[in-house]
Amino acid sequence: MSNIKIPYNKACLVGNELEYMTQAVQNQHISGDGPFTRKCHAFLEEFLGIPKALLTTSCTHALELMAFLLKIQPGDEVIMPSFTFVSTVNAFVNRGARPVFVDIRPDTLNLDETRLEGLITPRIKAIIAVHYAGVSCAMDAILEIAGRHHIPVVEDNAHGLFGKYKGKLLGTFGCLATQSFHETKNITCGEGGALLINDPQYIERAEILREKGTNRSRFFRGLVDKYTWVDQGSSYLPSDILAGFLYAQFENYQKIQERRRTIWDYYYAHLGEWAEKVGARLPFIPAECEHPAHIFYLLLPSLEYRQSLIEHLKSREILSVFHYLPLHISDMGRKFGGKVGDCPVTEAVSDRLLRLPLYYDLSQADQDQVLEAIYSHRDLS
Ligand SMILES: *Cc1c(COP(=O)(O)O)cnc(C)c1O
Repeated sequence: MSNIKIPYNKACLVGNELEYMTQAVQNQHISGDGPFTRKCHAFLEEFLGIPKALLTTSCTHALELMAFLLKIQPGDEVIMPSFTFVSTVNAFVNRGARPVFVDIRPDTLNLDETRLEGLITPRIKAIIAVHYAGVSCAMDAILEIAGRHHIPVVEDNAHGLFGKYKGKLLGTFGCLATQSFHETKNITCGEGGALLINDPQYIERAEILREKGTNRSRFFRGLVDKYTWVDQGSSYLPSDILAGFLYAQFENYQKIQERRRTIWDYYYAHLGEWAEKVGARLPFIPAECEHPAHIFYLLLPSLEYRQSLIEHLKSREILSVFHYLPLHISDMGRKFGGKVGDCPVTEAVSDRLLRLPLYYDLSQADQDQVLEAIYSHRDLS
């Protein structure tokens, strides 16, 4: 079945990834928080202009750390879009919270800020903004509503590194934010993530929770003379070998971003006319948003159309994929009372969205093949 010539994602070496992994071994520090991890922290802190960044083993784990830090407890509720990856919700559900799913806007596919106010109760302990495809949520409105109710806003910025809202980088709006360096993301080390801390009150406890509930970080800074068990915690440190891989990607982020931007723009320029003809829609980028070229999606006229286009592309050895299945009507979502019709925009978009191949190594010739395949697809209707 694997006669795919153009995958939808591909791991690519862009710089010194292999050299740095070797160096990590030669450094005799292949566990967490070694020299490459420190370089990665410094890159994120300087680039984003934030007080603290901590690498984690995944964005899933960064989200768990986030839920820990917000002291989410059984009985608490958190607001998030239903149109997101399962880890956004599980991090909070794992701590006993009940998710309150909000529908998305039909244009950006981000949580619909006009529906927030109606969902707020004293049980709501956080609002989780997910910047779909790295196109920012309406952060002004979200922060204003949350601020009035004294509810923390956090960002699942898995898609959004390098994206901006009104000139300000995504990941710097919430008191806490998370990044993913999974192989499908713009910057990767296979599996990896980061917690971004914008509100310094969370720094010390974040270090402790990430270090198995010990004050090891303070010990290494010479602030205490021995380290010991001081709190709950787990182990969220990636190996310095992976941090070496990641740092090489950070060093080349401009090259990666330029390439992805070129590919994204090429799709956009060459699919507009086709989209109009078949009744599809291309991504919408509000004027106040700069996106990081993370996802190029098509919103097709129907589920049947999408499935036939997927098959057609596959017959040309091109892999296209879709996501997300709405969380509120998943098996687990139904246990929280979710039912069909709760989030109509999410349900409709989920049936009709298709992601096209987008990765650093995608050549223009390959991209032309993707376009040709789309043009040659025969509408069912
Ligand atoms: C990829 C992704 C995650 C999870 O990232 P991992 O690093 O694989 O744990 C979480 N949220 C969103 C929105 C994602 O796209």
